[in-house]
Amino acid sequence: MPYAFHYLKSIRKILERVPFGLITDVDGTISKTAPTPQQARISPLCRQYLAKLSGQLTLVAAISGRPLNQVREMVGVDSMVYVGNHGLERCRAGGIELKDSTPDYSKIVKSMIEELNPLLPDEGIIIEDKGITATIHYRLSPEPELAERKILNALNGSTQAKSLRITRGKMSFNLLPPIEADKGTATMDLIREYNLKGGIYLGDDYTDIDAFRAIHAACRERDFQGLAIGIIGSETPENLEKEADFTLNGVGDVELLLKWMTNDALRSS
Ligand SMILES: [Mg+2]
Repeated sequence: MPYAFHYLKSIRKILERVPFGLITDVDGTISKTAPTPQQARISPLCRQYLAKLSGQLTLVAAISGRPLNQVREMVGVDSMVYVGNHGLERCRAGGIELKDSTPDYSKIVKSMIEELNPLLPDEGIIIEDKGITATIHYRLSPEPELAERKILNALNGSTQAKSLRITRGKMSFNLLPPIEADKGTATMDLIREYNLKGGIYLGDDYTDIDAFRAIHAACRERDFQGLAIGIIGSETPENLEKEADFTLNGVGDVELLLKWMTNDALRSS
């Protein structure tokens, strides 16, 4: 897949479109993947450039699988728009709005976690309670393939799991309410709401592929031109490169692209 820095001319063309939106994933894109979600930190350079860009562009948004409050605090740029819990939570007038009035699934998610905990006692498997969703991480497992099989077995044997939607992430599984909401619906909602004519989406994981597809659907259906940029690393999902327009290598490259956007591309356009 073409490396973004070889195509800055094409990226600059897209950037000239107004209103323009930059939408980014968080973990693995503007924050290096850490052993546990709590240990992850936003790249200070990304934070600095995103703050600058949010004064230059119509929209700068972060979409994450983390709960909204956590992602807002982690990124820490007040002028950005935040979408949390895989598109289910959106900041609105200082509060949190749930996608299409999603029913409160937190009780079901909690009892699902209680059911899974004794079934997955292995060292290295962490079940993260995120309110209306949960994520089972197995990055720290000494035998990730075995851990993955055990998690799938536990989920397949659970009747409660059948009332939830299960999606894959890097070294993780997400348990979500059965609502049509993902990073793709969230991206399309932002494009419509801000009437974007141009946009870039940055992401590194399975769930970002939905957003890549939304960018491409908007290009077909609307007066919109956008690019899906895949962040490549050691755990990159197979399809990510196939579905991206361009690639970048890791968070370091994202820092450089954001720097180029703030200092060069936007100033000269
Ligand atoms: Mg990510």
